[in-house]
Amino acid sequence: MPSTAKQSIILLDRHWHTGDIFELRCSRPPDFTFRPGQFVHVACQGTQREYTLISAPEEPELRLLIKQIPQGRLSVLLATTPMGTELGVSAAQGYFCFQPSKREPCFIATGTGIAPFIAMCASGVRDFTLLHGVRHPSALIYRRELSRAAKHYIPCLSSPGPLADENQVFHGYVSTYVDTLLPPGDYDFYLCGLRNMIRDLTHLLDARYPHSHIYSEAYD
Ligand SMILES: Cc1cc2nc3c(=O)[nH]c(=O)nc-3n(C[C@H](O)[C@H](O)[C@H](O)COP(=O)(O)OP(=O)(O)OC[C@H]3O[C@@H](n4cnc5c(N)ncnc54)[C@H](O)[C@@H]3O)c2cc1C
Repeated sequence: MPSTAKQSIILLDRHWHTGDIFELRCSRPPDFTFRPGQFVHVACQGTQREYTLISAPEEPELRLLIKQIPQGRLSVLLATTPMGTELGVSAAQGYFCFQPSKREPCFIATGTGIAPFIAMCASGVRDFTLLHGVRHPSALIYRRELSRAAKHYIPCLSSPGPLADENQVFHGYVSTYVDTLLPPGDYDFYLCGLRNMIRDLTHLLDARYPHSHIYSEAYD
C-alpha cells in the first residue's frame, strides 16, 4: 500500500501501562486537526498501520495507545524505537466519533479498543455507560478518568483477580454482561476492538435492542 503518512512527528515519550500496552507521546504537526475517535496512519521503517488518537483535540502533542502484538511488525517497532525517532503520520481519518442523540450512549471496548473512548472523554463527552473488557485489572487503562466521566463504568474481567472495589466489577465477557445485566432501553452502541467481538455483539444487540443504533470500529 502506498504511504499515506505524509507528515512527520517526533517520538517524545513512551509510557508502559502494562507488560504489553504502551502509550506514545509525539509532537503534533502544525495545523493538524482531528475529531475525538479518529485514527491516523503511522509509518516507521516502511511499515504503516492505523492507530486511534487518544489526546484531546486542543492538546499540544499527539498521544497513541498501542498493544505490542507478539511478532507484530509495527507495534514491536514502536515499542522499541528510540526517543527522537521521526515517524510518518497521515491526516486524521474515520467516522467513529460521538454523535449526541436522544438515545443512551453505551460504549463497549475490549483491550486497546478503549482508545477512542479515552479521546471522547478527554474532549468532554459525559454520562455514557462504558463496558471495558480486559483479562486483568492492570489493563483497565484510564480507569479513573473514564469512571469519573461515565454514568456507569463497568470493568468486565475475563480472568479471575481481586479488585479493591469488587462490587463494581463484572467477572465475565462484555457480551455476557450485555446478555444478562444491561437494562432494556434504546441505545446508541459504540463498539471498538477485535472483529470477532464486534460481530458477536452486533448479533446480540440486534436481537435484544432492536431500536438501537450500532457504530463500530474493528482493529484487526
Ligand atoms: C481504524 C483502526 C484503528 C486502530 N487503532 C489501534 C489503536 O489505537 N491501538 C492499537 O493497539 N491498535 C490499533 N489498531 C490495530 C493496528 O492498526 C495494528 O493492526 C496492530 O498494531 C498490529 O500491527 P502490527 O504491525 O504490530 O502487527 P502485524 O504484523 O500487522 O500482524 C500481527 C497479527 O496481529 C493481529 N492483530 C492486530 N491487532 C491486534 C490486536 N489488538 N490484538 C491481537 N491481535 C491483533 C493482526 O490481525 C495480525 O494477524 C487499529 C486498527 C484499525 C483498523
